[in-house]
Amino acid sequence: MAKIPLVDLKAQYESIKTDVDAAIQQVIATTAFVGGPAVKDFETKFTSFCDGARAVSCGNGTDALHIVLHALGVGPGDEVITVPYTFIATAEAISMTGAKPVFVDVGDDGLIDASKIAGVRTSKTKAVVPVHLYGQAADIDAVRAAAPGLPIIEDAAQAHGAKLRGKRVGSLGIAATFSFFPGKNLGAYGDGGAMTFTDAELAKRCEMLRDHGRTDKYLHELPGFNSRLDTVQAAVLAVKLAHLDAWNAARRRIAGWYLERLAGIPDLVLPKVSLESESVWHLFVVNHPKREHLRRVLDEAGISTGVHYPIPLHLQPAYRSLGHAQGSFAVSERLSNTCLSLPMYPELTEAAVDRISDAVRKAL
Ligand SMILES: *Cc1c(COP(=O)(O)O)cnc(C)c1O
Repeated sequence: MAKIPLVDLKAQYESIKTDVDAAIQQVIATTAFVGGPAVKDFETKFTSFCDGARAVSCGNGTDALHIVLHALGVGPGDEVITVPYTFIATAEAISMTGAKPVFVDVGDDGLIDASKIAGVRTSKTKAVVPVHLYGQAADIDAVRAAAPGLPIIEDAAQAHGAKLRGKRVGSLGIAATFSFFPGKNLGAYGDGGAMTFTDAELAKRCEMLRDHGRTDKYLHELPGFNSRLDTVQAAVLAVKLAHLDAWNAARRRIAGWYLERLAGIPDLVLPKVSLESESVWHLFVVNHPKREHLRRVLDEAGISTGVHYPIPLHLQPAYRSLGHAQGSFAVSERLSNTCLSLPMYPELTEAAVDRISDAVRKAL
């Protein structure tokens, strides 16, 4: 039987090949490889996609977060609150500024538990970075209520197009950051990233910072960085952005099939669907105490799975110096030990979801 991959970027390329190839050829023909109209065009389109929050592109999602924090003046001696249950880039970007990541645990949904924020806030706290994990929006309203006066930067790397109470992520805090890593809901054909802003001044500052602090070709307002979105990537992303709402809708449909077919299996915890938000299902993650067993049986049945993420950040060797013991963030640790990502991509067929669901049921 044919293998079912975790994600299938080839199937997606086949469906848009003509437009993508033409867009790449166009960039090559104009020989504008860095900057130029294609980058501006993508930024304009991504701004409308994010409910009007001003988009500034950059090199990748990690840089996006680093640039925003740096622009807010975050540096050595400061603290930034985030979660340990995320990809390491979230905390890494904080470390890149010289500040210290301060963790608060997540809830059962894998999203920041806002009720824990007040307990770790100090006079050194300069910002909060909630993560919209797996495509589902963290409750930014609850974070704002729990952290009055602190700037909120949404890590939206996994949630292009998700909504919270009717509003698109990217427009919920002072700024948000996106990754266009190939496997994300909106993925480039290489690295890419963007920041979005509801604050025009901060947007302007970050626009300079990502390009050597420039205001003109050889006029530099600030010492900045080299973190620009390649023009080829911008052209690919503009083609793909036109399909994103349809692709996210397909993911939602697939999630519905899974939820229906996987209901009622003993000890299998399905993702919670919040009525206040609209997930874009970057990943479909279930939890089971016998995760490794389930993973092995599915692999034998030709079904690829993933683990996002097996080690929470407070237990990573990279963050040993923070001194967190096992048990410090109980929910993050439990989720890390039990999570399993099932195949999820817009082209996944109902027959494949049937096959995967049957295999899960049989395994358990
Ligand atoms: C992918 C990802 C990032 C980093 O994005 P890159 O473009 O790979 O630098 C940051 N945060 C989260 C939650 C991610 O999933």
